[in-house]
Amino acid sequence: LEVIASVEPRVAEATRKELADQRASLKLIASENYASPAVLLTMGTWFSDKYAEGTVGHRFYAGCQNVDTVESLAAEHARELFGAPYAYAQPHSGIDANLVAFWSILAHRVETPTLERLGAKNVNELSEADWETLRHEFGNQRLLGMSLDAGGHLTHGFRPNISGKMFHQQQYGTDPETGLLDYDLVAAKAREFKPAILVAGYSAYPRRVNFAKMREIADEVGATLMVDMAHFAGLVAGKVFTGDENPVPFAHITTTTTHKSLRGPRGGLVLAQEEFAADVDRGCPMVLGGPLSHVMAAKAVALAEARQPSFQVYAQDIADNAKALAEGFLTRGGKLVTGGTDNHIVLLDVTSFGLTGRQAESALLDAGVVTNRNSVPQDPNGAWYTSGVRLGTPALTTRGFGRDEFDKVAELIVEVLSNTTPNSTKAGAPSKATYTLADGVADRVKAQSAEL
Ligand code: PLP
Repeated sequence: LEVIASVEPRVAEATRKELADQRASLKLIASENYASPAVLLTMGTWFSDKYAEGTVGHRFYAGCQNVDTVESLAAEHARELFGAPYAYAQPHSGIDANLVAFWSILAHRVETPTLERLGAKNVNELSEADWETLRHEFGNQRLLGMSLDAGGHLTHGFRPNISGKMFHQQQYGTDPETGLLDYDLVAAKAREFKPAILVAGYSAYPRRVNFAKMREIADEVGATLMVDMAHFAGLVAGKVFTGDENPVPFAHITTTTTHKSLRGPRGGLVLAQEEFAADVDRGCPMVLGGPLSHVMAAKAVALAEARQPSFQVYAQDIADNAKALAEGFLTRGGKLVTGGTDNHIVLLDVTSFGLTGRQAESALLDAGVVTNRNSVPQDPNGAWYTSGVRLGTPALTTRGFGRDEFDKVAELIVEVLSNTTPNSTKAGAPSKATYTLADGVADRVKAQSAEL
């Protein structure tokens, strides 16, 4: 920090404060974690200075021998850890990994057969008319993914995202009564819509998914199954999700981030069955620019950590702790989407406290509890104010919290929310944004958190 401070002291100061804040608060954001010192240090090295467009052994720049080493190691650890035939370590983030997956699937399903039919080796050999036909075909593909309010991610076909614009998209939700995925409904939608890509995976669904069933549905309608395991990759790596709950053997392509439950650097990863390997390998330059070599090195370190037996203990603790957190709410009268959890996420419906998600998120932050507001299925408050807060156990499990500590966390959250009241608008209605947290509660909760 002293070196940074000698150039821009405000960055050094913000960095110091960030560490202090992360230490002083209860980090319950389901997509965050604490990466190890080895992972953090690997990101701050000279690999950051190196350009390496292309693939291992086939770069568009000279001097990439050391990048080749770290990229190969990251891919090798990923293949071994997840039992995947092929791994691509270049995506800079989860969104990039999904873009690589989409375009690889389009290359596989649309571009290659069209080129073969037209007797061309690559797109540069196409006449203008054939090129237009191919472009039209690219724009004519269909994607079916989980809706945002049911727990899907915006890259799964949500209209404001590019995935909702580059594909004709439709979305599947969850059962309105139970909040659970209904595979018969997904199948019915798939039969009617006939997507080229069926996307499974989620950001805010507190339950496991049966990927064997998703593959059956994809096969029945001739779709490619893409699973985005960004959130639960750590639970797959740690062998908590096995059999039908492990997406890797069932999906044609599996994507993930490396920084959530997997506890690595910020980044993405694509795993693929052999038939898609060559198309995924075209990620750079098809979708990506130069890979972040320092981050690929850190992915190799994080994946090596995840191959240690202790990571399996960590992953099981994440799931056990989520159950303890859920039970902590249920015994105190809290309302949970789907009534509980069997992964790392608990989705608390805060309407029973008379609050919106926005008010709950802010009041909790006042008390040093960091969460994010989240829609619940058929959310009456819409995507901005929402009616829920999403809580995840990976970060505090890294800090060593167990079931007792998570029960206490539930108690503290209930204490904050029970002592928060919406303010009134000028018209006398309850505000959706502003609130009052009773005096003394924030300090009391902070003091108790400090003891955990
Ligand atoms: N996919 C899922 C399921 C996610 O939850 C997220 C991030 O929240 C992403 C993709 C995007 O990851 P990133 O923020 O690294 O682009």
